[in-house]
Amino acid sequence: MIVLGIETSCDETAAAVVRREPDGRGTILSNVVLSQIAEHAAFGGVVPEIAARAHVAALDGIVAAAMAEADVGFGDLDAVAGTAGPGLIGGLIVGLSTAKAIAFAAGKPLVAVNHLEGHALTARLTDGLAFPYLLLLVSGGHSQILLVAGVGDYRRLGTTIDDALGEAFDKTAKLLSLAYPGGPAVERAAASGDPARFALPRPMLGRPGCDFSFSGLKTALRVEAEAAAPLSEADVADLCAGFQAAVTDVVRDRVGRAMAGFAAEFPGVDAPALVLAGGVAANRAIRTGLAEEAQKRGFRLVAPPGNLCTDNGAMIAWAGIERLSQGLADGLDAPARPRWPLDALSEPAYGAGR
Ligand code: ATP
Ligand code: MG
Ligand code: FE
Repeated sequence: MIVLGIETSCDETAAAVVRREPDGRGTILSNVVLSQIAEHAAFGGVVPEIAARAHVAALDGIVAAAMAEADVGFGDLDAVAGTAGPGLIGGLIVGLSTAKAIAFAAGKPLVAVNHLEGHALTARLTDGLAFPYLLLLVSGGHSQILLVAGVGDYRRLGTTIDDALGEAFDKTAKLLSLAYPGGPAVERAAASGDPARFALPRPMLGRPGCDFSFSGLKTALRVEAEAAAPLSEADVADLCAGFQAAVTDVVRDRVGRAMAGFAAEFPGVDAPALVLAGGVAANRAIRTGLAEEAQKRGFRLVAPPGNLCTDNGAMIAWAGIERLSQGLADGLDAPARPRWPLDALSEPAYGAGR
């Protein structure tokens, strides 16, 4: 089974061709990603209208490149998968319309993929992981802990009640006049900083459930930064180190609770997996903290390669393969959905009592 996947939900224009092998594993035949970071850098964040126009300008060429690199024609495809949401509406319309046009012209089924499902299933493409497993998705737009129980069967155990973690990194960088995107810049600055110099809060630590909150930390950081101004390079390093240590503690605590809940619900799963996804998963302090927590609880940490953790077309093609294998395809009237939660939202999170 061969599927073309198209991803345009945020600031990456991406297309990929993935083939499912007879043993169920996936082979990435091509995976072309064009990042728009340069277009948005001057604004310190993604500008939706600029993103949509950049997708229009780039997508045809990116799809052609992905097809050429995979050495397949549209007639060789079993389906075309496109991200239908959640994300920025302009970009979603560009990518989904393109997927529909190719599917219609080639007479192939369309699979309208939920972007989060793409992230959730990537570990099955890369590591052949069996259900169920836990997923921590931390990116510029999302901070979620998901229970991945099967194709189309996801339970959101925790989410942010305000900012996404990547957004918190980006805002911290902006406040401290560091480069965009903020995550790598904050991590670099933190390397030489003293995490204990500024007393920053750990929001939600020890609370029931698995939700996140980062806006209070952001405010506390701003207050400390203003009090210490004008900031030397060492001040900036200490603030970054303090911020990174605080979010690492919070992520460990929240994910630790999810692991405890998972172990109680699925006692029969031997060496269960915690999968990392999203750009923030590249952060080494957070990774180290999670590795310690996972080891303590008998979980193994599964971190797909960085280019498959951030937004890409291969994860959309793979989600298309998984859905098509279950007989799930969509009509050409499938809508773009800026908001599209992955779970039914009916199941309570571990210990949250709701
Ligand atoms: P979406 O949320 O829809 O997946 P996105 O483009 O925001 O889209 P990604 O491309 O996966 O998501 O991740 C980008 C985010 O990851 C940015 O907020 C960036 O600051 C953050 N990030 C990248 N590298 C690091 C790092 N080393 N440490 C912390 N954060 C990082
Ligand atoms: Mg991105
Ligand atoms: Fe994403």
